[in-house]
Amino acid sequence: CGIVGYVGGQSAQDVVVAGLKRLEYRGYDSAGVALLSDGGIAAAKRAGKLVNLEKELMERPLPAGHVGIGHTRWATHGGPTDVNAHPHLDNAGRVAVVHNGIIENFAALRGELAERGHDLVSETDTEVVAHLLAEAYSGGGDLAEAMRQVCRRLEGAFTLVAVHADEPETVVGARRNSPLVVGVGEGETFLASDVAAFIAHTRSAIELGQDQVVELTRDGVSVTDFAGRPAATRAYHVDWDA
Ligand code: GLU
Repeated sequence: CGIVGYVGGQSAQDVVVAGLKRLEYRGYDSAGVALLSDGGIAAAKRAGKLVNLEKELMERPLPAGHVGIGHTRWATHGGPTDVNAHPHLDNAGRVAVVHNGIIENFAALRGELAERGHDLVSETDTEVVAHLLAEAYSGGGDLAEAMRQVCRRLEGAFTLVAVHADEPETVVGARRNSPLVVGVGEGETFLASDVAAFIAHTRSAIELGQDQVVELTRDGVSVTDFAGRPAATRAYHVDWDA
């Protein structure tokens, strides 16, 4: 439902949770965050309102991180439980992904992953993406390229935002039939399903086109199509009031 990603100098947890709050008006049933920290991924997710996640983060604080992703979920596959909440991680806990939309061919992909020994723990359509990303990443060690490979295998509508512990300065996003917008600040970049999530930080935005993958670092963004060709994007200034 709502997606936020951040790379920069601020506390990623603070930026991401504040961004999710700005998207609360859309309605949701669960919320979660994942931060890159100490060479790994630290994640927390809870069914219910954002206050449940915030309470969890107070009781069991995550290590500080400057790169992170977050999600508010509107369940389509699997009930609104802690386990089904996003982010979803691969079995090694090296990849985390959040997703808006529906992966239509998830059942076939689940079967295939199970045969290859993956242990899927949720009832969501989303979880397959974390496992596919982990496999694709192990082939080439490039998260944006892994995302392109995985997107070529997915059917349906999706906005995906992912991080990998081996690329601790990067957030990667992708979209098909579901919105994703980039925010470009000074030494920080943002990804969100709606500009409302980041206009407190920057008014400089880039709208991603259909079937595009974006790689964010602190210093900028690079956008390609699902085949890896550099893609045209539209940069604009967000001038409505916050
Ligand atoms: N289909 C996914 C799920 O049920 C994502 C739902 C959403 O867009 O929030 O977990």
